[in-house]
Amino acid sequence: MTTIKLHNTKTRKREVFTPIDPENVRMYVCGPTVYDRAHLGNARPVIVFDVLYRLLRHVYGPDHVTYVRNFTDVDDKINARAAESGRSIGEITAETTQWFLDDMAAVGALEPDHMPRATAYIPQMVTMIEGLIASGHAYAAEGHVLFAVESYKEYGALSGRSIDDMIAGARVEVAPYKRNPMDFVLWKPSDADTPGWDSPWGRGRPGWHIECSAMARELLGDHFDIHGGGNDLMFPHHENEIAQSCCANGTDKMANVWMHNEMLQVEGKKMSKSLGNFFTVRDLLDQGVPGEVIRFVMLSTHYRKPMDWTEKKREEAEKVLERWLELTVDLEPSDPNEFVPRQPLIDALAEDLNTHKALQFLNSSTYSEPQALLDHARFLGFLSDEAREKHRDRFFSRSEGGGSSADLAELAARLDAIRRKAMLSKDFTQVDEMKRQLVAIGLEVRMDKTGVDLVASSSFDPMKLESLK
Ligand code: AMP
Ligand code: ZN
Repeated sequence: MTTIKLHNTKTRKREVFTPIDPENVRMYVCGPTVYDRAHLGNARPVIVFDVLYRLLRHVYGPDHVTYVRNFTDVDDKINARAAESGRSIGEITAETTQWFLDDMAAVGALEPDHMPRATAYIPQMVTMIEGLIASGHAYAAEGHVLFAVESYKEYGALSGRSIDDMIAGARVEVAPYKRNPMDFVLWKPSDADTPGWDSPWGRGRPGWHIECSAMARELLGDHFDIHGGGNDLMFPHHENEIAQSCCANGTDKMANVWMHNEMLQVEGKKMSKSLGNFFTVRDLLDQGVPGEVIRFVMLSTHYRKPMDWTEKKREEAEKVLERWLELTVDLEPSDPNEFVPRQPLIDALAEDLNTHKALQFLNSSTYSEPQALLDHARFLGFLSDEAREKHRDRFFSRSEGGGSSADLAELAARLDAIRRKAMLSKDFTQVDEMKRQLVAIGLEVRMDKTGVDLVASSSFDPMKLESLK
């Protein structure tokens, strides 16, 4: 069996992964707060943990992995959005949840086995909070319930900070009802305009952290294998999840392995609305960037490194994927239940998700075998039926004489694919013919090992693309 190694934030080491129960490998990943479109950064954990999910399913069997990713559908940001838009909370969260599902499907992510909504688990949260009060880890004060961080001596172990460091470094909210400024909210009171549920502490709503602890316990048990999310969640969110879960469940661990993806940046800068470089997954899809291009760019950088989204990377990924689509356009994918990926690809992923190496494997080892390229690419979430369909449509419109829609990059990819097939068959007739046509309409054809480039000369007339068959 493949040995999977994963970097564990908790121990700061790369460790051999040993499931608690190989019959049911369990993973929880913190999901989105549903009040708006997912930005490009939000897609990173989804894509990264999707690859891990695929790897685990391959190694332990698809029926032996349980992946949970939640929706946070009760939050002050959602309340604020409802107030400013005049729409109901339910309408906003339902719409945003569907947007998220659509956008993540577009980037090739499988749906987790469970996608719990926090508001469906309020009774479990209340029970957990009651247990924490009963065992002296939490206290009620002025309609709030707070977790007493001093009652848990391991607090801060995940991020490696002491309570004093945390107080100094974090913007902790000082409130008169807190015994210690680091104590965090498990439950808070709601006024008449805010969503609320009856509880032993009056009408109120849960704090954010308790949601994940309660949903994870309900769906995965007291102690499970892997917990993931972006590294902005390590403190305080994950630190708080651990404190709540371990104290409520009487365990010394919530999850064995803690995994955190690094942040996404845009052209070397933090993505933020004030810098004007903030965009959503949907913005890119609407601009015609295929979802699989987003996936490819994300996976070309290791998840533990900051990932820089650049125009250059987007263009390169687009070229590669176009080539893959072209090379495999007339092939039928193998049945995914029967297809066995080659070990070098699995080994790359098993090395703490070395997705860069996995993509290289696709581009080198399977390149001269289009069927293997297709099947391995699909295993990694590329060349979906939808992407292939779209590609065929474009191809069809080109061969119908609708050449104006074919841009030079696509033509170059097409020629490159034909050339690579020819290198195998040693029959270059088609390549020569296409080259001749391109030159005839004023394009210079440059070929080297890495691919094909088409450069327009002064005599190039884009209208003449129409004449290409
Ligand atoms: P949020 O809705 O802000 O809680 O984020 C949902 C998920 O996206 C969490 O796992 C975050 O860690 C992750 N995330 C947020 N911003 C970024 C970013 N810029 N790069 C990578 N991951 C991010
Ligand atoms: Zn969480």
